[in-house]
Amino acid sequence: MTRAVVVGAGITGACVTYHLARLGVRVHCLDTGQGSRGENTSAVSFARLSAFQQPTATRFRLAAAGIAEHRRLAGTLAPAAWWHPGGSMAWGLPDLTEHTERLRSWGYRVRWTDAAHAGSALDPGVRFTDPRAPVAVLPDEGWVDAPTLIGVLLAAAGDTGRATVEVARATTVVLRDGRVAGVRCADGREVQADAVVNAAGPGAATLAASAGAPLDSALADRSSLVADLLTSARPPRHVLRGPTLHVRGAGRGRLRVRSDQVDTSLAAGVPVPELVEDLLVRVRRMLPRATDATVARAVVATAVFPRRGHPCAGALPAVPGYHELVTNSGVTLGPLIGRLVAEELVTGQTDPLLYDCRPQDARVRTTSGRSPSPVPPS
Ligand SMILES: Cc1cc2nc3c(=O)[nH]c(=O)nc-3n(C[C@H](O)[C@H](O)[C@H](O)COP(=O)(O)OP(=O)(O)OC[C@H]3O[C@@H](n4cnc5c(N)ncnc54)[C@H](O)[C@@H]3O)c2cc1C
Repeated sequence: MTRAVVVGAGITGACVTYHLARLGVRVHCLDTGQGSRGENTSAVSFARLSAFQQPTATRFRLAAAGIAEHRRLAGTLAPAAWWHPGGSMAWGLPDLTEHTERLRSWGYRVRWTDAAHAGSALDPGVRFTDPRAPVAVLPDEGWVDAPTLIGVLLAAAGDTGRATVEVARATTVVLRDGRVAGVRCADGREVQADAVVNAAGPGAATLAASAGAPLDSALADRSSLVADLLTSARPPRHVLRGPTLHVRGAGRGRLRVRSDQVDTSLAAGVPVPELVEDLLVRVRRMLPRATDATVARAVVATAVFPRRGHPCAGALPAVPGYHELVTNSGVTLGPLIGRLVAEELVTGQTDPLLYDCRPQDARVRTTSGRSPSPVPPS
């Protein structure tokens, strides 16, 4: 039986751990404990299920398949308390019509309405500044409570009797005779394995370097201020993608919010307390019933992702036994690419959906020394 170590128990590591265990692999998942403290990227993510932002047909297809995979997973692991498939609404964005119609031409379900109808019938409580503004309703979108999903996946992996999860920092991928033999931990222990899956998110580049497979110049990062608010107002039914604010429910009496404009100010160095106030002003404008909103938590969350846009997912042939799973939009894509990476590890066969995601392609440099095109944000 194959033994694998998965480094990272964020959404990507939890998905691959679950699928490896399901496929009969003895799997040991190591995590620094950031996840259980609610501090990893997955826990602070906006965590929208979406294919809306994808710029090319190939990446759109992957994201749409990712949303479909969530539906399947919710059926397999029912009741799916983490899954909130309520749809989303987008309005007031530059090039909204052109962009949305392109998505529709690729097969995405889109309904158009106007702000007056959206604010009275679809999501009462949302204030739109212009009642005639076109609103795109995207019924297949939603959001995920990622920490809950991660917990369910790791528990289901444990139930197979083949998976263990441990709080430990992996420092080095151990190689013997040119192939993976395991992982060394910060306490000096070696966990032996035939395969390693690097799903360490922000820690992925350090671990890759220890395997002789540098990844840092292939990665980019982006920071965003994400706030969880408490309010007596009902959360919106849809995930809201408005011109000044993104909002979703986050459980009873809770909202999660972020704003592209606020993130621009964050990058320009405006102090975080000022930006939190700015977010609250935007919330009260868009959701007038949430005037009592108070901040439960505000964090600057940083996403680390492959610069070229495609996920970095699968085996790296130069280092036999070494596999990688580092991605943008990891909440949307985690269950799908976690399954595909696990299947590739077990069968040696690569699913066509991963053809553009090969780890060796993420490492291709231009003559300027950088990886190819920069990546748009998730
Ligand atoms: C503000 C923001 C908004 C976002 N919005 C969306 C969105 O709406 N939709 C979407 O799909 N995606 C979104 N994303 C992206 C998504 O959140 C990430 O792609 C995803 O969470 C990455 O998951 P991960 O498992 O790869 O990494 P993480 O969640 O960071 O997990 C990595 C884990 O590895 C562990 N680790 C690291 N190094 C080691 C080591 N050496 N040894 C052991 N453990 C280690 C860490 O402790 C951590 O728990 C957003 C991200 C951000 C920051």
